[in-house]
Amino acid sequence: KPEGATMRRFNKSTKLDNVLYDVRGPVVDEAARMEQAGMHVMKLNIGNPAPFGFRTPDEVVYDMSQQLTETEGYSASKGLFSARKAIMQYAQLKNLPNVGIEDVYTGNGVSELINLCMSALLDNGDEVLIPSPDYPLWTACVNLAGGTAVHYVCDEQSEWYPDIDDMRAKITDRTVAIVLINPNNPTGALYPPEVLQQIVDLAREHQLMIFSDEIYDRLVMDGLKHVSIASMAPDLFCVTFSGLSKSHMIAGYRIGWMVLSGNKSIAKDYIEGINMLTNMRICSNVPAQSIVQTALGGHQSVNDYIVPGGRIYEQRDYIYNALNSIPGVTAVKPKAAFYIFPKLDVEKFNITDDEQFALDLLHDKRILITRGGGFNWHEPDHFRIVYLPRIEVLKDAVDKLTDFLSYYRQ
Ligand code: PLP
Repeated sequence: KPEGATMRRFNKSTKLDNVLYDVRGPVVDEAARMEQAGMHVMKLNIGNPAPFGFRTPDEVVYDMSQQLTETEGYSASKGLFSARKAIMQYAQLKNLPNVGIEDVYTGNGVSELINLCMSALLDNGDEVLIPSPDYPLWTACVNLAGGTAVHYVCDEQSEWYPDIDDMRAKITDRTVAIVLINPNNPTGALYPPEVLQQIVDLAREHQLMIFSDEIYDRLVMDGLKHVSIASMAPDLFCVTFSGLSKSHMIAGYRIGWMVLSGNKSIAKDYIEGINMLTNMRICSNVPAQSIVQTALGGHQSVNDYIVPGGRIYEQRDYIYNALNSIPGVTAVKPKAAFYIFPKLDVEKFNITDDEQFALDLLHDKRILITRGGGFNWHEPDHFRIVYLPRIEVLKDAVDKLTDFLSYYRQ
């Protein structure tokens, strides 16, 4: 360093200016600090089943251990033949139209593929319609790629279904795609065919692509059936995402996929872009790809959790009833996944900043929730609870939350 020169600083890219990922944000950092200081924090913030005692089927672990030595090298960029063949069959069973093996891509979780798809698609200023509340990676990836995330509202009064009028009102000349998260994180909503049909009609009218994040498609309760929107749109170009993180409780293995379907001829150039980025990342984690066939074709242990008597089902019923019995809290009953997105009476509690609310709850009761703003929800009146912990733990959390709300800012 020449004498007298000022010290050079390294700043983050301005591309990150509009990027938010609060599921692992400042409140989580504060919880980590408290833990390091020796405090126990009850974590109701991350949708990661394994730490809560949900185990992957034994055959999946056995399969990976058997194949480990054979999966030391890179695979083809899109993935192993066996994995893609199994995913293709899964997609065909769900009636995704016009799907061959070349339309299937594996990824290091759905996360990598969401990022890849947005990077390959967007020019500066291109708009993508994203739900509010959303799983925030979608908004972050659109903004990081130079696009603009435009949020359409999901309506709490109507089971958290997308508000189609709002969606329509947000379409402009720059809109390229609609993103759907179905089943939804954070609301636990499952969209029925009538709602999906209206979205397909809108996409058709305005020539939009559809991205559908269906990572919770095997975690649906109450005897309901998940319908893939792509199955209703053979004339549109759709990309459908799913994976094993949630259904097989192996979020740490990092395996997800995407399937292109419908009218691929209109997306030839975009698919070239997707292929280029897929090649550039070489391939996704090969040991994790090697168990896809066994996982999709084998014992679906998740089915035992989502029926009456099963853990996820019973924990859902418990948390739904318990939250609704707290004065000033209301929540829509989730139909799928393992999240609930309760509403707080902000006037009663005088809440203007949901991050402060999350921090106050953390400091007072050592409970970690995620504020609604972390899901691009623009009012300070919601938060998300992950109801993966056992009922005893959830009960403890609800008791503490009830006590907290009995004195909070009153
Ligand atoms: N999409 C949604 C809606 C999610 O909730 C999550 C994880 O919580 C992901 C994608 C990321 O999943 P993966 O583990 O496959 O990267």
